[in-house]
Amino acid sequence: MFFAQSCAVCNAETESGVFCPVCRRSELLLEAMPGLLNLDGAVMGYKYSGALKEMLHKLKFEGESKFLQPLAEEAVFLAQAYSESCFDMVVSVPTDAARRRQRGFDIPESIFAGALAVKGVWQPQVLTRIKATAPQYGLAPDKRRSNVLGCFEVRGSVSGAKILLVDDILTTGATLDEAAKTLKQAGAKSVYALTLCGSLENFKK
Ligand SMILES: [Zn+2]
Repeated sequence: MFFAQSCAVCNAETESGVFCPVCRRSELLLEAMPGLLNLDGAVMGYKYSGALKEMLHKLKFEGESKFLQPLAEEAVFLAQAYSESCFDMVVSVPTDAARRRQRGFDIPESIFAGALAVKGVWQPQVLTRIKATAPQYGLAPDKRRSNVLGCFEVRGSVSGAKILLVDDILTTGATLDEAAKTLKQAGAKSVYALTLCGSLENFKK
């Protein structure tokens, strides 16, 4: 069970977010992964496990929008931790239009809007989906790249821009890498990613 302002791990009272300050430290991953084919680098905020994983599942599959607020508050902590870097543009990975309509919200955009909108570079609409894709979680890692091939399009100018891409989860990085490829083909100078959470399982050999 989750309570509005209590830590999802130890149940202590919290002022905001998903975790209390103590659990936030233990859940923080802040793991940098090497660049993929097109992505120059990525940082995954929290471990994709336990309470956070459960909240994201309820958001995605049961449309429980009450979890947007605490997750967005966690994104504020992450954006602070990431503030040394300077970007021309922050773009969120768009959800498939049909899925967005069904849920009534776009998870990456909703989670990061409050944290990054203030910086004046927030342009979540620059990247759009032009093709419906099967959900990545149901596919084997080697099928994920072909599933998202050609699914994005850039609207507006990204010429010469250093871009930060934000998303909720990084698992294999295939979607983020395809988004980075599309942005670079449209003239972006570099593309980095920040995700609310991630799992390193797919990178361990
Ligand atoms: Zn706690």
